[in-house]
Amino acid sequence: MRSLPIVADDPRDEPARAQGEDHHRTKGLLRLTMACNERCVFCNIPAEDYRPLTPSRASLDAELDEFIASGEQTLTISGGEPTLLRERLLGATRKARAAGVPYVEIQTNAVLIDADYARELAEAGVTSAFVSFLSHVPALHDELAGLSGAYADCLRGMDALLAEGIAVTLNPVTAYVTQGLVADYVSFVAQRLPGVRSISLSAVQPHGRAQDNAQLLPDYGVLREQVTLAQQRAQEHGIRLLNPYCGLPLCVGWHDSAERSVEAVEAEQADEPTPFGVDNHQNKRHGRPCRGCALRTRCGGAWNAYWEVRHGRGLRAPVERIEPWFPEAQTATGQRVVLTQQLVDEPTQDAGATSAPPTTWYLVPSLRAGDGDRLRRAGCTDVGVLTTVAALSEDVVLQRELQAIGLANQGRNPQRQLRMALGLRELGSLREAAEVIRRAVEWGVDTIDILLVRTPQLRRFAAALRASLPPDVTLRVGGRSSAASDER
Ligand code: SF4
Repeated sequence: MRSLPIVADDPRDEPARAQGEDHHRTKGLLRLTMACNERCVFCNIPAEDYRPLTPSRASLDAELDEFIASGEQTLTISGGEPTLLRERLLGATRKARAAGVPYVEIQTNAVLIDADYARELAEAGVTSAFVSFLSHVPALHDELAGLSGAYADCLRGMDALLAEGIAVTLNPVTAYVTQGLVADYVSFVAQRLPGVRSISLSAVQPHGRAQDNAQLLPDYGVLREQVTLAQQRAQEHGIRLLNPYCGLPLCVGWHDSAERSVEAVEAEQADEPTPFGVDNHQNKRHGRPCRGCALRTRCGGAWNAYWEVRHGRGLRAPVERIEPWFPEAQTATGQRVVLTQQLVDEPTQDAGATSAPPTTWYLVPSLRAGDGDRLRRAGCTDVGVLTTVAALSEDVVLQRELQAIGLANQGRNPQRQLRMALGLRELGSLREAAEVIRRAVEWGVDTIDILLVRTPQLRRFAAALRASLPPDVTLRVGGRSSAASDER
């Protein structure tokens, strides 16, 4: 039995709140069967990938015993479609509740649930249901579910569950055909299903059946507007929206409510040896817009397939990362600048505390051996070295530490890297400057600001140098705004 992602939640909502996948601590997942009465076009765990479809009763019992012994609080019973196996479902629920498990959730399409079935579920001890209600438009729901008539039956099922006092969280799995209807979905729920207090705004992910049909992926440019509007409507109606792991990057309508976004919460709770960022198992990645994003330590970016199919459309940094030598950095949203050696020398100066912003700069004229590790442990996410070309070329300890940080970064995804920027107050000879900057880039420095007045000569120098640097390196001349047009 696997544990589901850990996400902070408001304990005051217990136990009345709905408990959908991806937003509860320490849950176990029991898949009764992989068989399903629907055939969702986007299903990420399709029945055709599993044999046998239904585990033996003995192995399910063993899994359940293991879960009970673990002392975890919420058992999630899923499939396939768990309601296909009525007696097993009721039996597993009764056993878990009798053993003291306080919460049992079913993940269901609700199509088979009528008043009798819902009553039996409630009597057995089911406390919540996570329901795949795919669209408030009947034809779209049925098309996505691959089952004619599923819409009406799903509504009947949800009504029955709610009538029995079982909390319902909706799981719409937004697809390309429903991407423009997210806000209306929330309005529909508020009106037609007033007992529903929670919607997990999942979206199609490029796995399972959708792997072969990536055109199902929604367009994040459309979704950003829709999610923002949906958040407003949900707030008006007291509905709680959640952004699950299979949901959306923070810039797709979630940057102001990261506390309800699985990845952002997990990233903030990360511990040693990776004090920030989450492990996306390489199925999501950052792209060009993420380079200047102050939220990159809280967001895994988009699915790999999204960059390929939709070319990153709709993704743009909602909060800008500003290098610490620019005055705006001191007051910028989403980041802070630490100026003193205290951070690494005094353990009480914990930049990784839960209140730390997503980007914490360490601004320094040089580095000592081992500072990279110390900074990471202290929760620093970005280091800015303010120096001159002459000083950098003489400071061997600084050079070695930059290399050490770059080497350590190579094994980490971008969320978890300690990024390095150079602010150069003097260049000296341009030939030497070019050589030193190239070496710094080889060590892993990805942002270089030449903090001098932008002359035609310096512009030509920077343009020629940029052409020889990797495309993911930023090289600017002059102040941020005046240099904007010179950036890559
Ligand atoms: S890291 Fe990238 S995908 Fe995530 S919020 Fe920033 S720009 Fe968007």
